[in-house]
Amino acid sequence: MLQRFNERARRVIFFARYEASEYGSPIIEPTHILLGLAREDPALLQHLGVSSAKVRVIHEQLFPEAHERIATSVEVPLSAEATRVLNRAASEADRLGHKHITTGHVLLGILAESPLLHAELGKAGLKEESILSRVGETGEGKSGFDSRSTAISEQSNATVCSGIGYDLHRLEAGRKLMIGGIEIPFDKGPVGHSDGDVLVHAICDALLGAAGMGDIGTHFPDTDPKWKGANSLVFLRHIRKVFAGGRAFISHIDAVVIAERPKLGPHFPAMQTALADALGIEPDKINLKAKTNEGVDAIGRGEAIAAHAVATILV
Ligand code: MG
Repeated sequence: MLQRFNERARRVIFFARYEASEYGSPIIEPTHILLGLAREDPALLQHLGVSSAKVRVIHEQLFPEAHERIATSVEVPLSAEATRVLNRAASEADRLGHKHITTGHVLLGILAESPLLHAELGKAGLKEESILSRVGETGEGKSGFDSRSTAISEQSNATVCSGIGYDLHRLEAGRKLMIGGIEIPFDKGPVGHSDGDVLVHAICDALLGAAGMGDIGTHFPDTDPKWKGANSLVFLRHIRKVFAGGRAFISHIDAVVIAERPKLGPHFPAMQTALADALGIEPDKINLKAKTNEGVDAIGRGEAIAAHAVATILV
């Protein structure tokens, strides 16, 4: 379901987990989602008559007990009620005919599934009659509300992290040429334990590096027969799972593939789609470039193919 959440709505969940940890709660409750919403989209609440400071006062009045902070490395699960809030956000988006789930839908989910918070926000002056028009605007990015918040690292405790990845494979005649998750017709292909997809491997290392999680060899050792001939997209799907649950959000990936032949540019849209699909992100978050090596060295002689990637994530 998280695939349908737009970037800001995903960050609400990310911040909800952070708030739960900060307040020492072993579980994410709707109140933490509301606090996450107040962090990510204070303008939405402000427009509806409630400041984000007021949201925190409500939380601290409802849950005055202080607990010791839980390390953010500990996985904090959603409570049943918090899960219902997110499911409700999805059904509100369906009902309104919106493709993506936004911060506005999350607010509707909170109001529908948490009578306690609904009542408190009402007492605080929430203008419920304005919600639907505002949700429409957050819905498909008409008002600019959905634009990427460049001030994210200043407004919150999210950290922007970058990682770098590099890979090279020798090319041999008669092997399948897999790049960026798709097969490209050519008379040579990479030699490797898996399918030898240099672009996917470089992106894997960039993402793992950004998250401080080692490298591709640690997670998918080439001594493991499980990965023999594997389609490398499976590695990206694995990383997507590890990143899921609010631990890390992919902000952007930039990559360059270096090959003397064939021409790769025409295949980029299909590669972007395959890569984005495996990672559960929008294709426009992946930028691809191609270079030749001007006939110099092994790559230039067509004996090898290489890729470099840089990933930027929020953790
Ligand atoms: Mg490799």
